Amino acid sequence: MPQNTSTKILATIGPATSDKDILEKLIDAGADAFRFNFSHGTHEEHQKRFEMIREIAKQKNKHISIVADMQGPKLRVGTFQKGEITLQKEQSFTLELEACIGDENHVQLPHPEIFAAVKTGDKLLLNDGKIILEVTGKDSSHIYTKVLVEGPLSDHKGVNLPNIKLPISALTPKDRKDLAFALDLGVDWVSLSFVQKASDVREAKELINGRALIISKLEKPSAIDELDEIISLSDAIMVARGDLGVECPLQTVPVLQKKIISACRKQSKPVIVATQMLESMISSPTPTRAEVSDVATAVYDMADTVMLSAETAVGAYPVEAVSMMHHTIEEVEHDPHYIKMLSNNPSHCCETESEGITYAAKELSEVLQNVVAIVTFSNSGFTTFSMAKERPALPILAITPHDNVANRLAIVWGVHAVTDEKVFQNFDMIEEISSRHILELGYGKKGDCIITTAGYPFGKTHQTNMLHTVRIK
Ligand code: PGA
Ligand code: MN
Repeated sequence: MPQNTSTKILATIGPATSDKDILEKLIDAGADAFRFNFSHGTHEEHQKRFEMIREIAKQKNKHISIVADMQGPKLRVGTFQKGEITLQKEQSFTLELEACIGDENHVQLPHPEIFAAVKTGDKLLLNDGKIILEVTGKDSSHIYTKVLVEGPLSDHKGVNLPNIKLPISALTPKDRKDLAFALDLGVDWVSLSFVQKASDVREAKELINGRALIISKLEKPSAIDELDEIISLSDAIMVARGDLGVECPLQTVPVLQKKIISACRKQSKPVIVATQMLESMISSPTPTRAEVSDVATAVYDMADTVMLSAETAVGAYPVEAVSMMHHTIEEVEHDPHYIKMLSNNPSHCCETESEGITYAAKELSEVLQNVVAIVTFSNSGFTTFSMAKERPALPILAITPHDNVANRLAIVWGVHAVTDEKVFQNFDMIEEISSRHILELGYGKKGDCIITTAGYPFGKTHQTNMLHTVRIK
């Protein structure tokens, strides 16, 4: 079945979606990619899900991306004698480095980096930002605070330190084990949580060494400070609005979303908008109007992918959530205003030949009669990523010899990927092969025109230098 929408859906898999039957239903409802959240679940569970998804994808002859999401350096308090306490405004509260059983006066915070980094006056956010503590003093193993915003606090709740850059890597020892496991499985993408700086991505890249592509999750203000460099080092970006909305004032998140999407597009990097998109569907078969509007906004913003988290991982209506998202995407993508936005690209200065060819392909698709699709021949995916950047109003068919490249492309805007080696062995077959796939997928008929792009000779990556039109015979 060909892709009938351009914006992709990434669904997080969890206990609610671990059966083959449900996974199949998610794909039929419109899921293009699945996220395994390594903050939860065992390696065995992930492996089982991985194998099931690959099997279904094969049966359906569809390329699906699997994303391994690393937990990252999520900071947490220890435990309380009674499991939960309530902090009162203005009271003092102490965080202790050493192991201790917490109560109304203190709790353990087992992260030495925080004790070294905080200063008097800094703010610590607990429990998804619901509680705010202000640092009043410290020594090597105690941080003394005053409660600015009160509330309940229970075992292992998260701690966020906005505006403090901690001297920690984005990969913890647990992440390194999870990463090795995920790479051995053969996941398509790895996402890095709590990236603070460009060097975090560099470090992960060295470890991963091309075995998967990297998604940097933007959820720290310090990452926004190095936005362009982080985008350039990453293969894709996630606007991780959950933690971003704790670390930054909530009202800045929609503005950051637009800024990040546009910065990613400039660098031809796919961008995922994540978290709470249809949150109420965790327990309700229909979402709120505001949630549907949020999905629609991400589509109008031209994100590559929209993500579901708890809605599909633990929610009661996972298939309905994917379906709702899919229908919202369809509706927006049929809006004449949206279609006009696609061809109203601001003309830009092309810095490389590749950009020029890609831009020309899109322009040509708009001025030539009867063009039905753009076909990219891509060994590494580069030519396809570049084409998607232009957001053409026609389907982009990616033809690649590699299964893993086709899988990776499942989160890229507008792309339907198939594998075929022939053109890569014999360039003269370009007309025959592109016509055959377009006809098979039902994108066009005899007499229609296809625009093809490629980097030739093949294998010399990161270059698109060929633009060729094909009339289907
Ligand atoms: P998470 O990341 O679901 O792994 O926390 C996404 C976010 O923070 O928005
Ligand atoms: Mn997060």
